[in-house]
Amino acid sequence: MHIPPETEQRLRDLVRAFLAENQKINLSAFRTEENCWAGNVLDSLAALDTPPLQEAQQLHILDLGTGGGFPLLPLAICLPQCTFVGLDSVQKKINAVERIVKELHLPNVSLFCGRAEEVGHQPAHREQYDVILCRAVAEINVLLEYAAPFAKTGGTVLLWKSLNIEQELQDSLLARAELSCHLRDQHTYELPGSFGKRQILLFQKTSKTPGKYPRAVGVPKKQPLL
Ligand code: SAH
Repeated sequence: MHIPPETEQRLRDLVRAFLAENQKINLSAFRTEENCWAGNVLDSLAALDTPPLQEAQQLHILDLGTGGGFPLLPLAICLPQCTFVGLDSVQKKINAVERIVKELHLPNVSLFCGRAEEVGHQPAHREQYDVILCRAVAEINVLLEYAAPFAKTGGTVLLWKSLNIEQELQDSLLARAELSCHLRDQHTYELPGSFGKRQILLFQKTSKTPGKYPRAVGVPKKQPLL
């Protein structure tokens, strides 16, 4: 992946701002610039090599469970033509990401606090996004129930995962059918040092999500579609 020097400077500023926030509230286990660069920034940017983001179109993108702002913030820096929304259920994390966004002057990012199971039914967010991003939130079947309602028909859901997930993929067959999310690609990539190989799963949503999804708060996780 080629990162232009100007962009790299902005990404390095992000790492510094993030680490400062991470000292105030616990956002991530990565506490050094080197770990945060590889484990958060480069890991987020792996999505730039997947079809919807590669084409550099103007897209409306949701990061579901953004936590401390990954993959949201590195992608917002690299794709200024796209608009980004970060959602998380924990207000203090959203407040921390707001402060980072202000410090870095990122006009294409907005944030709000809520549960995917509730926000996914709101007309302002339901079936409004071209791409949904999700890193380290839950199993695939749970994530698709959270994410699919936000995607436009024809839109894409990108899930960050480790490599050996055959069982998890098998367990997501019903969720994929119910939610019309088809696995189109498994993009594998390698991060420096001990971070190793990982993958991004790319699902395409091919028809409208039935109104009953997502189910009530807590249900997708407690009784996953199986
Ligand atoms: N994406 C970030 C954070 C991962 S931790 C990263 O990769 O570093 C998972 C995050 O998802 C937590 O911040 C948690 O608050 C949020 N989350 C979990 N379930 C959620 C739900 N149902 N709706 C909204 N956010 C949720």
